[in-house]
Amino acid sequence: MNKETETRIHTVQTAEGPVMIPYLIRRSKRSRRIYISLDKQNQALLTIPMRATIKAALEFLDQCGDWLLEQMAKTPKPKSILEYLRDKPVLTLDGKKCSVVFAFTNQCPFCEYNHELGEVTLRYDPCAINEARIREALKKLAKKQLSDRLFFLCEQKSIEPPSRVTVRDQSSRWGSCSSSRSISLNWRLILLSVGMQDYVILHELAHLKEMNHSKKFWGLLNTYDSRSKHHDRRLNEVGRSIISLGQTA
Ligand SMILES: [Zn+2]
Repeated sequence: MNKETETRIHTVQTAEGPVMIPYLIRRSKRSRRIYISLDKQNQALLTIPMRATIKAALEFLDQCGDWLLEQMAKTPKPKSILEYLRDKPVLTLDGKKCSVVFAFTNQCPFCEYNHELGEVTLRYDPCAINEARIREALKKLAKKQLSDRLFFLCEQKSIEPPSRVTVRDQSSRWGSCSSSRSISLNWRLILLSVGMQDYVILHELAHLKEMNHSKKFWGLLNTYDSRSKHHDRRLNEVGRSIISLGQTA
């Protein structure tokens, strides 16, 4: 299959009037006709035969307006980071719960962290909410916080630190550890509780010694976090909805 093209917008007529539909076109050697589906971000995914024209794909999309609306109504819309934080204005920074307050700016969104108050002010433009930029502002805050936390835990548990720590916007993983001793953490770890945030960091640190999920690995991890099994289970329970935050933009 070819690489997916970027998302575009097409206006489709429906019983409820014209609706702008984000769509992606993917060419497939195996497909004999045009297929349509909705991806988890509620974008229409058009799978078309190699030789089909874009025009034909869009004509097909034109006919699917009502069906798409029906499907979209069924799938719960992924929550935005801003909505999530408004419901639950808490972050984990420096191994502590930290409250989030909201303020405005007409510039790019940014975070101010008041260490003493244990409070983060997230400033954004209410007239032009830009989810991707809000995500960037939080990621920037997470960058320093999470690597500081990792080095703190290394010291506390006498673990030799990794060669490199990066904080990224992974879509499905909380963290990873490479054979070159480099650890990568998902910025959304600041949205987890202290226990779970530390668990993910310690899990990756344990991989520095054990690059697998063997008994030996869990044994080692348990010496770092005696509640590792509990945290691992909790992460599976609550993690899925948090890891998908902000992936719409
Ligand atoms: Zn692992």
